[in-house]
Amino acid sequence: MSASNCIFCKIVAGAIPSRKVYEDEEIFAFHDIHPWAPVHFLLIPKLHLASMAQVAPEHQALLGRMLALAPRLALQEGCNPYPEGGFRILCNTGAEGGQEVQHLHFHVMGGPRPWLRA
Ligand code: 5GP
Ligand code: ZN
Repeated sequence: MSASNCIFCKIVAGAIPSRKVYEDEEIFAFHDIHPWAPVHFLLIPKLHLASMAQVAPEHQALLGRMLALAPRLALQEGCNPYPEGGFRILCNTGAEGGQEVQHLHFHVMGGPRPWLRA
């Protein structure tokens, strides 16, 4: 289920503190420690999956639930309503995809512009 050297598994376990946004039996969400936008949280499966590259057919329902949850959490955390507001979902995968933490995560970002990074 979890990888002993993974910081996001440690966050799920509570061994590393985080500002929690949401939790259920399969999913955890918490604020990014270095936000690029007024709202910036990370949505992760509790299951340790290193990246999107490891996603298999048995993960379809889990990923669907994560994506379906994102709009509600975005509004809850202060993103403005669509279409004037909205949010960005980003998933860096692998070194060339810009991934730094090797536990699958969706960045969810929003709030008034400008952001620290476009
Ligand atoms: P990546 O570059 O892998 O897509 O994004 C990793 C994200 O995790 C970065 O935005 C970084 O700020 C965030 N991050 C890294 N370590 C921690 C941590 O210990 N706590 C929290 N809340 N965020 C972290
Ligand atoms: Zn992990």
